[in-house]
Amino acid sequence: MEWETVIGLEVHAQLMTWSKAFSGAATKYGAEPNTQACAVDIALPGVLPVFNKEAARMAVKFGLAIGAQINHRSVFARKNYFYPDLPKGYQISQYELPIVAQGRIAIDVDGVEKIIGITRAHLEEDAGKSLHEDFRGMTGIDLNRAGTPLLEIVSEPDMRSAKEAVAYLKKVHELVRYLEICDGNMQEGSFRCDANVSVRPRGQAKFGTRAELKNINSFRFVEKAIEFEIERQIDLIEGGGKVVQETRLYDSDKNVTRPMRSKEEAMDYRYFPDPDLPPLTITEDFVREVRATLPELPQAKRARFMQDYGLNAYDAGVLTSSREMADYYEQAVRESRADPKIAANWVAGELSAFLNRDNKDIAASPVSAVMLAQLLQRLADNTISGKIAKEVFEAMWNGDGDADAVIARKGLKQITDSGAIETAIDAIIAKNPRQLEQYRAGKETLFGYFVGQVMKATQGKANPQQVNELLRKKLGS
Ligand code: ADP
Ligand code: MG
Repeated sequence: MEWETVIGLEVHAQLMTWSKAFSGAATKYGAEPNTQACAVDIALPGVLPVFNKEAARMAVKFGLAIGAQINHRSVFARKNYFYPDLPKGYQISQYELPIVAQGRIAIDVDGVEKIIGITRAHLEEDAGKSLHEDFRGMTGIDLNRAGTPLLEIVSEPDMRSAKEAVAYLKKVHELVRYLEICDGNMQEGSFRCDANVSVRPRGQAKFGTRAELKNINSFRFVEKAIEFEIERQIDLIEGGGKVVQETRLYDSDKNVTRPMRSKEEAMDYRYFPDPDLPPLTITEDFVREVRATLPELPQAKRARFMQDYGLNAYDAGVLTSSREMADYYEQAVRESRADPKIAANWVAGELSAFLNRDNKDIAASPVSAVMLAQLLQRLADNTISGKIAKEVFEAMWNGDGDADAVIARKGLKQITDSGAIETAIDAIIAKNPRQLEQYRAGKETLFGYFVGQVMKATQGKANPQQVNELLRKKLGS
């Protein structure tokens, strides 16, 4: 039997507002526990929530970016359950009427484009955190995160493989960062995802029963968790069993998913409209205002990079993977007036490799766009060769100053004086009579040997093109 996988994702993106969704407390990550939780967040009796308009602005921005419908009237509802990190006893969310509905996001898997439907994106608040370390036999509660605004982005069950799910998740991640509505930090939990997974015999119209996988906090784990789950469900059905609808936790240490609660144990949240909050009204003017703040989106930027700079799809993809990287690249091209393709090779190649190696964000790169631009200029005006440029780049990375300073201090300036190069060539020829004889006898591969010797004698500084030309003349081939 051939099986088909069906996947739908629920993404929680923490919105980058300064204050919380319904209170004035700060949202900054990493503060001392309970120092950013006000009376509203700890649910003292008699307090009232006041909605943060910035959260609506960000949700609308997302909705516009995915071509969705913006609902002019949406409703906050109470989702009731008990948990120690939820002092009110309910989470404020949107249920029947979300702020954003029916959008679409294009993904690309192995060069094939596919549209993933977005069912809805709604506003809600985050809960606090339970702390299990440092509390012997007890649990600590930190309510700093309580009330932080979240955008929950729910996809249609449109994905058909773990690979597609990861591609989709990366697209959403890229988009929320482009829009500057979420920092996308998965380690700190500001971008999280639950994956709904089911399988069905290929050709069957009806979906199979799904399991919801929680607790996956990296792209790699999303792929692994889904792959494990697909195998588990197929093995179960082929062994005569039945998939039950349940919530499962992914254990990344053991690479397995295990049951958390079944449908029978599922909570009845008793949703109802929050009487403390009026329906959220979004006017046409507000939508227009937000639309005017939309940045150039990744897809458009990619197309423009290919068009304006003559880049291939791969390089354009790498260079537009974040707004910061794209800005860096464009600044380097602008300042250096260098060949955009050469600049692209440096940013997508050398710079990216160093950033990866040192696990640095481009914003924290020791080599700024202006510094790279100067290096590109020295390459273009033949002050240094490509090989020496890599040496200069590494020195700049290590804090040795800008390109001109490094070139001057280390004496790396390219030798373009043909007299000096000829002197070096003569010396090499004199030192290698046997090779010269063989070369003249027809062993042409020895030409490379002579080039290498001259480059070595000049510590790589001789202009390679001139070395080639002058050598040809001298060797008389
Ligand atoms: P809930 O609120 O209980 O999680 P939803 O109807 O909101 O349920 O669906 C949540 C997610 O599950 C959506 O992303 C949807 O696409 C996905 N989904 C629904 N049915 C299936 C299925 N049979 N297999 C895989 N994913 C599914
Ligand atoms: Mg769900």
